[in-house]
Amino acid sequence: MLVIKAKNELITVLNSLKTGTKKIGFIPTMGALHLGHASLIAQSKKDNDISVVSIFVNPTQFLPHEDLSKYPRPLEADLAVCEKLGVDVVFLPSVEEMYEKDPIKVSAPKFMGYVFEGFLRPGHFDGVLTIVLKFFNLILPDNAYFGKKDAQQLLMIQKMVKSLNLPINVIGMPLIRDKDNLAFSSRNVYLSKEGRKDALCLSAALFTIEERVKKGIKDVEALKKGALESLSEVYVEYFEFVDKELHITTKLEDSIVIAVIRVENIRLLDNLWISDIMDKGRCV
Ligand code: AMP
Repeated sequence: MLVIKAKNELITVLNSLKTGTKKIGFIPTMGALHLGHASLIAQSKKDNDISVVSIFVNPTQFLPHEDLSKYPRPLEADLAVCEKLGVDVVFLPSVEEMYEKDPIKVSAPKFMGYVFEGFLRPGHFDGVLTIVLKFFNLILPDNAYFGKKDAQQLLMIQKMVKSLNLPINVIGMPLIRDKDNLAFSSRNVYLSKEGRKDALCLSAALFTIEERVKKGIKDVEALKKGALESLSEVYVEYFEFVDKELHITTKLEDSIVIAVIRVENIRLLDNLWISDIMDKGRCV
């Protein structure tokens, strides 16, 4: 496994590795790798000849009050995970390597970029899209892997690829959960034992929706009401059924339930892609 810090070196190495019809798979991460990240890497290994993982805590997607310096950075453990999973190249740039002074940026769409996560964290998606485009241009992957856990991010990256005509296949991967059903997240380490227990009401609420949908219930208002009742003990930032353009919808088919709760002041994201339940043909 090659660990590369400089853009020029990355370009040279990928040029030499990518001979003939070899395919490159790319998995952008901010590190603190867990089984969610591992699932993306495993899929890339299956689909491609070369798998590139970036580990970069991107400052431009943090708001001034969000503590960038506190983001977990267990680099040695992350590299060991990548090695074990058979990653070919880890790209580990510094902030200076990725950003020049007064840089050109990508603007997130005015609607999709400023609702839900984008409303609570204005400018966040400009930072996300900018860094992802920079990585895409350096790595020129055939396939890029993103988690459905970050639904709003995934939908906007798909939109960016379409809007800017990027010849990259964006693959959305299922949300991976820990044994107790808490969605894997680098932020989970900040939860106390008690907080973690409290947080489980969110996955439970989503599972209840899944079960009810499988039983044939299609009334979005009723599904949402039931879920919110079961979340009454925690602070809910948002909990909505949305369509793929992030408009709130009452049409169940193809919707996504997106949710964030805050426990011990930690924001916990989770979601349910109704289309996935329907696709599996498990719906009555
Ligand atoms: P991050 O390091 O948090 O920026 O995440 C890197 C990638 O891993 C993103 O595409 C995330 O959506 C994805 N990811 C994070 N957590 C999970 C999870 N629990 N299941 C699946 N993918 C995830």
